[in-house]
Amino acid sequence: MKILVCISNVPDTTSKITFTDNNTAFNNQGVQYIINPYDELALSKAIDLTNSGANGSITVITVGDSSTEATLRKALAIGADNAVRIDSRPLDAWYVANQIVEYAKDKNFDLILTGRESIDYNGGQLAGLLGDLLQIPSVSIVKGLNVINNEATIEREIEGGKEIIVTQLPVVIGAAEGIAEPKIANMRGIMGARTKPLDIIASTMVDPLTTIVTYEAPPVRGTVTLIEEDNIDELVSLLHHRAKVI
Ligand SMILES: Cc1cc2nc3c(=O)[nH]c(=O)nc-3n(C[C@H](O)[C@H](O)[C@H](O)COP(=O)(O)OP(=O)(O)OC[C@H]3O[C@@H](n4cnc5c(N)ncnc54)[C@H](O)[C@@H]3O)c2cc1C
Repeated sequence: MKILVCISNVPDTTSKITFTDNNTAFNNQGVQYIINPYDELALSKAIDLTNSGANGSITVITVGDSSTEATLRKALAIGADNAVRIDSRPLDAWYVANQIVEYAKDKNFDLILTGRESIDYNGGQLAGLLGDLLQIPSVSIVKGLNVINNEATIEREIEGGKEIIVTQLPVVIGAAEGIAEPKIANMRGIMGARTKPLDIIASTMVDPLTTIVTYEAPPVRGTVTLIEEDNIDELVSLLHHRAKVI
């Protein structure tokens, strides 16, 4: 099975997010980058699928500048066979999807795996756009995936239940929690990743469809006042005088 896993290079979840240029640009200063956690699950599922069948191959791809290569090497260390970096800033989801499609369109991938969303811009658009542009089915928020011969059985979470979908390959899958156990790179993987191929491809001319006007951080949370459980008078007084809700 030939699998393409799309990798988004995202700030570590503990990063302090700030903005520059009058709140129009994300401030990269001091930010550590990681593989988008949902993409790690997608890659782990790809490894499960290629381990259980013969003749599997996993390509990881990112649209990003040279700073994203450490993330691609990590994906190679976890178990991808080769990596592709499309050398460009990811301007918006439409732009990123078109770059990936330009690479993938004549490569006959059986499966294209993305995360359900990228935890930086949280658009959740890539899987749908890829399916549409490639004219193949696309299913997102996928919690379970089984492939037998040329048929994928897909489990999705829906409000209050689950949905089982069957489709022929090729298909785009947006991976969510539960699709696989996350895999960790071992020492052998880390050493081997240094020599695995990482191809750099020039980007295609595509105009992004969106522009960020401004960013705004959420309001700082107020402090918490702890009150002894039997001190009802103080609770009532604070609700009345400070919070002014009674
Ligand atoms: C208006 C706008 C401006 C942006 N400007 C910048 C910018 O200046 N610099 C910057 O670094 N980013 C920028 N981004 C973010 C970048 O374009 C995102 O990577 C892209 O928008 C993905 O769209 P999404 O948020 O819908 O991703 P989602 O659809 O939420 O991502 C789902 C999955 O798609 C795949 N994916 C997402 N991004 C990539 C990628 N880059 N390469 C390969 N696979 C990917 C991953 O598998 C991910 O799990 C911008 C985004 C927007 C909307």
